[in-house]
Amino acid sequence: MIRRHFIKLSALSAAALSATKGLAATPGTKPIVLSTWNFGLAANVEAWKVLSKGGRALDAVEAGAKVPEADPTETSVGYGGLPDRDGHVTLDACIMDENGNCGSVAFLEHIMHPISVARMVMEKTPHVMLVGDGALKFALDNGFKKIKLLTPSSEKAWKEWTKKAEYKPVVNIENHDTIGIIALDANGNLSGACTTSGMAYKMHGRVGDSPIIGAGLYVDNEIGAATSTGVGEEVIRIVGCHLVVELMRQGRTPEEACKEAVSRILKKNPEKAKTIQVGFLALNKNGDYGAYCLQKGFTFAVHDQSGNKLHDSKSNF
Ligand code: ASP
Repeated sequence: MIRRHFIKLSALSAAALSATKGLAATPGTKPIVLSTWNFGLAANVEAWKVLSKGGRALDAVEAGAKVPEADPTETSVGYGGLPDRDGHVTLDACIMDENGNCGSVAFLEHIMHPISVARMVMEKTPHVMLVGDGALKFALDNGFKKIKLLTPSSEKAWKEWTKKAEYKPVVNIENHDTIGIIALDANGNLSGACTTSGMAYKMHGRVGDSPIIGAGLYVDNEIGAATSTGVGEEVIRIVGCHLVVELMRQGRTPEEACKEAVSRILKKNPEKAKTIQVGFLALNKNGDYGAYCLQKGFTFAVHDQSGNKLHDSKSNF
């Protein structure tokens, strides 16, 4: 027993050591912020305003996430998001800081900035997650305004959809795109945020990976941060972002960790994996980053001192 315990401990320390070696600090790679998809560029601009002044990664990711939330032309996040099959726009969001604190809201209606409600859940309640009417009541009690999230163009798209009413999420089309945003600040602290209106035309009450800590987002300040996008059910099944961070702890690079998470999804159901999108984005404590996805077409934006650039993720197909 004792010997086995010792061997296990030595193996763990070896893995931890090699992970630490891989993550040795190199000056100049922080601050840095990464966001999913093309709308990540605009989100990064806001996040960078915080990071470039020496601000906290947590404030940066919240500021960035609020950009697509408030944009009515982004039909997969916040205001203007496509509704569920009954015509309700229901939002999911979560946030996590460098101390392992986290907050989340799911199935929240009528609020423009679910990410800020999630932060308030983290900072002002003894809980991690509030959903539905309870989350709405909490938001309204704390000064958030009730608004109509369904815009005329999203309503038109939904009405069109009801003619056939087929639930077939289209890969890389904006009926499913979440903003996941992860940052490392000048003090070397990591935080992340994730916010979405979820899969368009989902069943009423459906919640995806995005507000679930460990699935749509995970941050461990000793190791790194990860976020995901795509068909949330597949990400939940493998607890995707926790997996990515743990793989980085074992010494994988961010891209290798994302690739392994994607391949777990692929292995579970190779046929289905050909028809859906899932993408992971990761950042380690050193400021190294990487992404991997199932289908070509997942983009992510990176802002550091050298500027704000869009990258194409590597993919399986
Ligand atoms: N992951 C989100 C969800 O399942 C949607 C997306 O990112 O495409 O709700």
